[in-house]
Amino acid sequence: MASGRRKTPSVSVMRRDLGRNSRRPNSYFAKKWGVSRERVRQLRAQLGFPASSVIQTAVQTEMKATRAADRAKLEATLSDRFCPVCDSPVPVLRRTTCSTGCATLYRGNSRYRYQKVTNGKELGRK
Ligand SMILES: [Zn+2]
Repeated sequence: MASGRRKTPSVSVMRRDLGRNSRRPNSYFAKKWGVSRERVRQLRAQLGFPASSVIQTAVQTEMKATRAADRAKLEATLSDRFCPVCDSPVPVLRRTTCSTGCATLYRGNSRYRYQKVTNGKELGRK
């Protein structure tokens, strides 16, 4: 740095900083305080904060759970379309049929495809 080395903050300042930004990785504090990541790791241990890896794992688990919940919610959401095979509402994430089972039937049976085309034409004429 051109302005010279920044002074390493006191332990109490570091403790407060760690407490406020406990989710940040060791590299963040290392850069901020001008110390090594190893020193940050030691400080975490000394000051009674959980290790960065423990926090990162918890953050990952939390994110995974959130994503899974969002995905499940989306999968459970039904569209206003109906399955051409069984007439059940089609989930928003599916294009034509309500399920993989119906999709297999739909692909294998031209009658359903014909129905869909007919429906499309009827809608077009309105
Ligand atoms: Zn179906």
